[in-house]
Amino acid sequence: MGRCNSGVEAGRADSSGPLSRAWSLLGAAAVAGAGVMAYAVRGRSSSLLAPSVYKGVTGRRSVALTFDDGPSESTPELLEILDRHRAAATFFQCGANVRRLPQVAREVASAGHEIGNHSDTHPYLCFKPAGFILDQLARAQESIAESAGVAPELFRAPYGVRWFGLREAQRRLGLRGVMWTTIGVDWKWPSDRVAANLVRGARNGAILCLHDGRTIQPRPDVRIALRAVERVLPMLIDRGYHFERVSEIICPTI
Ligand SMILES: [Zn+2]
Repeated sequence: MGRCNSGVEAGRADSSGPLSRAWSLLGAAAVAGAGVMAYAVRGRSSSLLAPSVYKGVTGRRSVALTFDDGPSESTPELLEILDRHRAAATFFQCGANVRRLPQVAREVASAGHEIGNHSDTHPYLCFKPAGFILDQLARAQESIAESAGVAPELFRAPYGVRWFGLREAQRRLGLRGVMWTTIGVDWKWPSDRVAANLVRGARNGAILCLHDGRTIQPRPDVRIALRAVERVLPMLIDRGYHFERVSEIICPTI
């Protein structure tokens, strides 16, 4: 979705003029530092700012479908599609959406899907104080536990952006970070392209990311994701894949 590069991008040195070599060296060091920082903040395999996983074990013919930014008014339709194909999934929900639609959050849990924490109001966590980050995670945790009856054990950072303080917030709330192996780009691409991208990205242990909401907007248009899921499920089943929840797919023995 959005980007969070401001402040982690270094200025580039001027390559002409008498001090060009010194500036180039300084510039190179700054760019390298910025590269590390950008990786720490957004890299799917980075655990520099907080521990997280981006794929599961590869010994089983399984993938994990994940849906972010719900629950929304369209989540019940998604639950029907998943049920039709007997597919379990993981929903990373925002606390504010759960308070808007507590009954839908409850339906997700009672249908046997896993619920993860996706912050309370879907902010960028970069450049935020540790207290703000803890509060975002704790409020969502509370709302989900209250409405769905289960306390999440997984956390997906909004926009995939991590920051200082997240490690401690996850530790205090007992949350494991989860990124993704392949993302659907379902907020931008047409559904057939989203589906093709997901099928191409499917492999043993893959964590696939889609959306059943749009940050904390009421009544978001997620038709692309719904159509992509309808298309992808039979294709993955044909290829022999099973659907595991994230806490299962990261577990070597289930
Ligand atoms: Zn999100």
